[in-house]
Amino acid sequence: MTTDESEGYIEKYDDMFTEAIRLKSFQKWPFGDDAKCSAAKMAEAGFFHCPNETELDSVQCYVCFKELDGWDASDEPWAEHLSHSKICVFAKIGKPQKDLTAKEVFRIEMERKVNKNKRITAQLLYDFRKMSEEAEDFFVEMMEKTESERKKK
Ligand SMILES: [Zn+2]
Repeated sequence: MTTDESEGYIEKYDDMFTEAIRLKSFQKWPFGDDAKCSAAKMAEAGFFHCPNETELDSVQCYVCFKELDGWDASDEPWAEHLSHSKICVFAKIGKPQKDLTAKEVFRIEMERKVNKNKRITAQLLYDFRKMSEEAEDFFVEMMEKTESERKKK
């Protein structure tokens, strides 16, 4: 099991609120119904499928946004979720959607909003740093150009 934190892709999480919608994302999931990490069990444990070119079994939690891949048929989704994301309130509560109380649903949603805002902030910081670096490169280049033109005179 390997994990990956990546930037971006913030808006798609809002669509993954229900177990039924998450389950639909698993149409190309490489494990069958007899695996412990079946599509239904994965969706129940808060994950949606987000395969990429290198990791066909990459999934992400809609609450804590943890990404996990490298699944094995004997991996138990709830246990993997909690062991790789101990702060996730959804994994800590550890119940299928149908068994959640109104209070728990509210708590999960509040936590998801906090996590989402953290990710948005991280993305903005990342973009800002990149912009600053580009501005610095541009500035240094201009300085060098000015300097070399000054020497020509
Ligand atoms: Zn989580």
